[in-house]
Amino acid sequence: MSGEFDLIARHFAPLAKDAPLAFGLKDDAALFVPAKGKSLVLTADAIVEGVHFLHDDPPDQIGRKLLRVNLSDLAAKGATPRAYLLTCAFPRDIDERWIAAFARGLKADQRQFDIVLLGGDTVATPGPATFSATMFGEVKGRAMLRRAGARPGDLLCTTGTIGDGGLGLTELLTPHAGLPAAQRRYLIARYRLPQPRTRIGAMLAGMASAGLDVSDGLVQDVGHLARQSGVQAIVDLAEVPLSPAARRLERTDAGVRARAISAGDDYEITFTIPPKRLAALESAALRSRTRVTVIGRIEKGAGVAVRLPDGTLAEPETGGYDHFGR
Ligand code: ADP
Ligand code: MG
Repeated sequence: MSGEFDLIARHFAPLAKDAPLAFGLKDDAALFVPAKGKSLVLTADAIVEGVHFLHDDPPDQIGRKLLRVNLSDLAAKGATPRAYLLTCAFPRDIDERWIAAFARGLKADQRQFDIVLLGGDTVATPGPATFSATMFGEVKGRAMLRRAGARPGDLLCTTGTIGDGGLGLTELLTPHAGLPAAQRRYLIARYRLPQPRTRIGAMLAGMASAGLDVSDGLVQDVGHLARQSGVQAIVDLAEVPLSPAARRLERTDAGVRARAISAGDDYEITFTIPPKRLAALESAALRSRTRVTVIGRIEKGAGVAVRLPDGTLAEPETGGYDHFGR
């Protein structure tokens, strides 16, 4: 096992080679020059072994997941991702091959999402492996999509399908006997490797009235949007888009849909839009090849209500994930 400086030179410096202002990770800091007329959108997310990933998860996927949870936040803010800083706390006895595979995952997603590494920190920890990325994206002017901004009459929309990540985690822990193997693999892949909606995200700035990334359960996250906007959000349960695998599970378990809207790890964007912009949204969905579904609407009031298939409104217990919940 080599020292800190060798680890940085061997595994992380190659990830900064396309960023001349990272100076090969041989200086104390890097420079970043935003494009003219753009603002930087900043976000950070950390992942911890035993909480966000499991000890035996493939290291390349852990690296990619770290980047993708941050990419998802930038997408939900209407930003185009550009660069990131990386902090790694490795257990002292970590195998260097693990670090090499982790870095390969980072490299693959840097290429896929067109971002570069600018710097970071590397430390040893007596605790579980912990990684944090701080990511930089750009928006025109100040056009960052906020959680605040939804207005009564707006449509509530989401990208992709809801619940797959949470159902994938369940499949890892207690596989459902009736589910075909390909659909199980699909759900587990959705848990391990979120697909951040960066293409449509960048198009939502200036189109959506509010937006956020759904990572802690649709209902809980829509609740944040409603609170910050000072409105009520109605989620039409029957309209929430489920994947074929989730619908397959729903055939034998009517509770799947309710679990889907409170489970975490979706990494979709949920946003609101004035109805007059629906045509522009449909065109953006086509151009970005992203599924978009209207799942409800915004009304005067507060909080989230779920419209059940029989038409009655239910006030959900928030559900969703809270690290300090007890
Ligand atoms: P310091 O002495 O200030 O802690 P370091 O030795 O940690 O500085 O860092 C040296 C250089 O390596 C810096 O440019 C830093 O940004 C970079 N660096 C350290 N760890 C990482 C990492 N995990 N990923 C990317 N860059 C890193
Ligand atoms: Mg350091």
